[in-house]
Amino acid sequence: MTVKILLVEDSDSQLKFLKDGLLQHGFEIETASNGAEAFKKLFEFIPDLVLSDIMMPAIDGYQLCRLIKNREETKKIPVILLTILDKKIDSFWGKKAGAQLFLSKSIDMEELVKNINATLRRYPLTEEYKANIAANATHENSAQSQLNTILNDLLLKSVFANEFRNLSDFLNYERILVEKMFSLLSSFVEYSVAGIYFASPDDFSENILYIDTLGRNLSKNLLSDIQYDFFRKLEDIKPIRDTKFEVVRILMGKEMSYTFSDMKSKIIIPLVFDKKLIGGICFYTRSDADYASFRYFDIMISELLAIFKMKYQYTEKEFMSVLDGLTGLYNRRQFELGLEQEHNRTKRHPADFSLAILDIDFFKKVNDTYGHQYGDYVLKTVADLMKASFRKTDLLYRYGGEELIMIMPETNIEGALIPVQRLRRSIEEFDFDYNGIKAKVTASIGLTMNYQDFKTSAEILKSADEALYKAKESGRNRVIVYEG
Ligand code: GH3
Ligand code: MG
Ligand code: MG
Repeated sequence: MTVKILLVEDSDSQLKFLKDGLLQHGFEIETASNGAEAFKKLFEFIPDLVLSDIMMPAIDGYQLCRLIKNREETKKIPVILLTILDKKIDSFWGKKAGAQLFLSKSIDMEELVKNINATLRRYPLTEEYKANIAANATHENSAQSQLNTILNDLLLKSVFANEFRNLSDFLNYERILVEKMFSLLSSFVEYSVAGIYFASPDDFSENILYIDTLGRNLSKNLLSDIQYDFFRKLEDIKPIRDTKFEVVRILMGKEMSYTFSDMKSKIIIPLVFDKKLIGGICFYTRSDADYASFRYFDIMISELLAIFKMKYQYTEKEFMSVLDGLTGLYNRRQFELGLEQEHNRTKRHPADFSLAILDIDFFKKVNDTYGHQYGDYVLKTVADLMKASFRKTDLLYRYGGEELIMIMPETNIEGALIPVQRLRRSIEEFDFDYNGIKAKVTASIGLTMNYQDFKTSAEILKSADEALYKAKESGRNRVIVYEG
């Protein structure tokens, strides 16, 4: 059987030259002088291959290629694009449009035929496939309107993908990242409850499933069930030790009485990269939502995967390092190690040490009012004031977000109160000024020491946290000492 080639070329002389040459090599040829005509002939002639010029009026070679590759019933027809301009960019767009091969028009006939035959061998069409092309010939959709549909779809996809890419500005602000993600996801995915989980390369971090209830108050039972359901699903990949959930968007008020069984549909998507679990998302709804049919689900997952990957790598880098990038203080991992070491040392050789935990007051408001850069500036400045208030032998850490910790070896509460109060006062008195914007900031501090009753270092930290909580509760901008 002869091989059929649809030849598309707007220049008559070029068309004649190519047609004659190919006829001599035994191909059956049909011609078209533009993309629209070619697309119509595709269904009548049923070619084994399309050989098309790129530069043509109305619908050009790239567009023709996209039209062919966009339809199930024609996408397997191999396309070779020809151009006079041997530019890299042509080849780039040709490939993006799905062309199998891209050749310069200056190629001689023997070489062209060789390439055509190689392409036909690589992309043979079955008789069944060809019969199906013919069966679809009645399609009345014009090439131009199909092209518009493709273009609209591409535009939507790129806008959609871009929305996700904008999230990467918040990689180091987990909580903000989560909030922004939820607000984006909830704008196009139907859910009653959604969850986001970031796996951590760091063994010290807890597994937190961030939960969005769309501002509704749901019962603790329901949320625990979802948390259990979610982590159980991911457990196959990585054993989960401590897990908890944190509700991100919630209003204060009465609890709702949904139960787990009210949720009619759910989907849990583990995000895996390089055989490592780097996170997961889940959606639960009280209606019969079919997540798989959601038009941009695949793009959403691949964009989410990209963000999760970046975040994972970011966290991994932080974890490997010793100092926190923003403040220059020792990081959380160093704190865990440092506290354990100090605790063990004073158990062997009894001595006092004090521990203080500082949390900036209304820091969220600083961010909300002046922006995150301002927040970062405040945090860095508070860290600097902290360095100025303590001895060289004291150990200073950034524990998390805006929480800083001081360990003071060989120091009891009385001794520790001096630098701790000094720090609190220096923050209160400091005139924060960044790019000409002035602000006043205060901080609350909880202070404790290695009392006999504490068996583990975790208990010491917990007691400092309790004191900090009291400092916040009783009005902020103060130091509260743990009192058992
Ligand atoms: P409180 O007085 O009760 O501590 O109020 P707060 O607003 O400080 O409380 P909360 O702990 O809820 O808010 C802390 C906020 O700090 C949340 C987050 O937006 C922000 N934050 C955490 N880490 C960083 C950071 O590295 N940079 C900036 N700019 N903000 C951060
Ligand atoms: Mg805090
Ligand atoms: Mg705070």
